[in-house]
Amino acid sequence: MFKQPKAFSVLGIPVHVMSNYPGWLLECLQQSIGTHVVTLNAEMTMQAERNTMLAKVIQDAELVIPDGAGVVLYLRWLFWQKVQRCPGIELAETLLREVGQQPTTKVFFYGGAPGVATKAAEFWQQQIPTLNIAGTHSGYHSPEEEEQLKQTLVQLQPQVIFVGLGVPRQELWIAENRHLCPQAIWIGVGGSFDIWSGTKTRAPAWLGKNNLEWLYRLYQEPWRWRRMLALPEFALKAFVYRLTARGAIS
Ligand code: UDP
Repeated sequence: MFKQPKAFSVLGIPVHVMSNYPGWLLECLQQSIGTHVVTLNAEMTMQAERNTMLAKVIQDAELVIPDGAGVVLYLRWLFWQKVQRCPGIELAETLLREVGQQPTTKVFFYGGAPGVATKAAEFWQQQIPTLNIAGTHSGYHSPEEEEQLKQTLVQLQPQVIFVGLGVPRQELWIAENRHLCPQAIWIGVGGSFDIWSGTKTRAPAWLGKNNLEWLYRLYQEPWRWRRMLALPEFALKAFVYRLTARGAIS
């Protein structure tokens, strides 16, 4: 068995700190170790406080990466960890480039509005002709179609499965269904299919570098403002937590 990543508690939620997340995942892939990857941000941490099922799923995930600026700042200020932000979409892209070199590795895209995952797959197929995208499925469907999707996954046994249903739907769905492909890497990718398909655009890099990607999302999707109240809430809670408790989980 290879080394388990070191976890730090961010308001009671574990975050794994390591220098090479894609390398660790490729090792899982090579050894056929089923893995659930959660890409954690402040908003999700606050959701987990209110949703015990989501909290449990994150705690059980093999890899929780610091996706958001709030989580990174928390780890830097409270634990003096030299953590770099690892946006889930970038981890997914690196993984696609890596597995694209191994045509025996099957990838599956699940989620997004009708046609979006297929468009995202076409985009990647053009970028990496050797990438083996075994199938796609939209995230809006009937219970019957979902049954069909599950059967397809069982038959195909893709080794890397991207699930873009939004938080917490994708995390709960993965936890419930990962037994269908027990050796796969399952990653909740939020709106990544929207970006890859060209339906939406990502914030300019300079905003990301200044921890302001959230501001761009608010500009692009103003209806998110209510959800984003979780950010100041997270900051306040982090401050209080700092005064009362501290420590690495493992
Ligand atoms: N979505 C879906 N099925 C649903 C609800 C949402 O496939 O029942 C998709 C939606 O089309 C979008 C993604 O889930 O592509 C959510 O993206 P968002 O950026 O909101 O994710 P989050 O911020 O929650 O990670």
